[in-house]
Amino acid sequence: MKKGTCQLCGDTRDLIKAHIIPRTIFSKTRGLGAPPQFLTSWEGNQGNKSEGFIDKSILCGDCDNSFSDAENYLGEYLHRNHTAASQAHNGVTAFIDEAYDYGKLKLAVLVTLWRAEISSNEAFCDVYMEKEEKEKLRKMLVKGEVGSAGCFPVVISRWKSEEKFEPVCRQTVMEPRVINNSYCETSFLGWKILICIKENAGDNVLFENAISKDKLIAIDQAFETSDFFKRLVELSLNSN
Ligand SMILES: [Zn+2]
Repeated sequence: MKKGTCQLCGDTRDLIKAHIIPRTIFSKTRGLGAPPQFLTSWEGNQGNKSEGFIDKSILCGDCDNSFSDAENYLGEYLHRNHTAASQAHNGVTAFIDEAYDYGKLKLAVLVTLWRAEISSNEAFCDVYMEKEEKEKLRKMLVKGEVGSAGCFPVVISRWKSEEKFEPVCRQTVMEPRVINNSYCETSFLGWKILICIKENAGDNVLFENAISKDKLIAIDQAFETSDFFKRLVELSLNSN
């Protein structure tokens, strides 16, 4: 192990191999047999691609371990079969969950954003935040806090797709990237995740259904007609 400055707590410690995308996302997809594939447009060293890349220069073991519980929850939650739970929400089909753990789910998503931002790994070069926002996020993560729904809002949507695309949806992790300097998008295992990288989303309609302490509302998105899907296909073709 190499000694260095932990980017989270700021202490000089032994730095561990930190997974940027939580390792639990890449544990074998239940029922489908094969582990998920990480899709990226980056053409550099792909050695750790199947695990979503590691970085040996950002985190000490204690800081990294402090997120294990939340990350295990995220992995378990996204792998879970929620199919039967769709309900109507403002006239559209949505998956609504009032009993999920807001603190754990959001913490795992926010720490993933933070690690991707902090990492010098070029696969995450499209993830960036302004200095002040990044420092605010770091302080929250040190305390294990996720704030209210409006604080770095997170939206989780679900892909609704034809059966033939189901494996593409369920077995793919897509590189996170920042759009319009305002939010980060990524896709894990058939769930699209948006994270506002500004402290307050203001009137950004994208974050109307941000997850909150009360509930998670995941609108079912038409998968095959989206730009997101085109990008997924593009990345998928490039990776073969
Ligand atoms: Zn640390």
